[in-house]
Amino acid sequence: MSILIDRTKCVGCGKCHDVCPGTLIKIDADKKAYIKYPKDCWGCTSCIKECPVYAIKFYLGADMGGRGSLVHTEKDGDIIRWITERFDGETVEIKINQKESNKY
Ligand code: SF4
Ligand code: SF4
Repeated sequence: MSILIDRTKCVGCGKCHDVCPGTLIKIDADKKAYIKYPKDCWGCTSCIKECPVYAIKFYLGADMGGRGSLVHTEKDGDIIRWITERFDGETVEIKINQKESNKY
């Protein structure tokens, strides 16, 4: 499992670094985030949900049946939109109300 960070979107806020429980994400000299230890990422998705500019995507590899699909989240108030860009070009979106997340 691992993430992809879009350097062109990253604004260097450091939130992903702060929330990663494994301290896997670093900030380089250009103030851009990168994952230093991608093999150690266990896909908790904390960094993805914290990024204010949606620069981080989670890679769904073949081992998870994702065949290269990418997932990211976008926030709209209490709603988190989980957006999957499938390997075949289709986009699938699931909306979760954070206030009701204990229901799932
Ligand atoms: S998904 Fe979790 S473990 Fe992986 S880099 Fe992001 S915060 Fe760290
Ligand atoms: S949270 Fe997003 S914008 Fe902030 S440093 Fe990480 S990738 Fe860059």
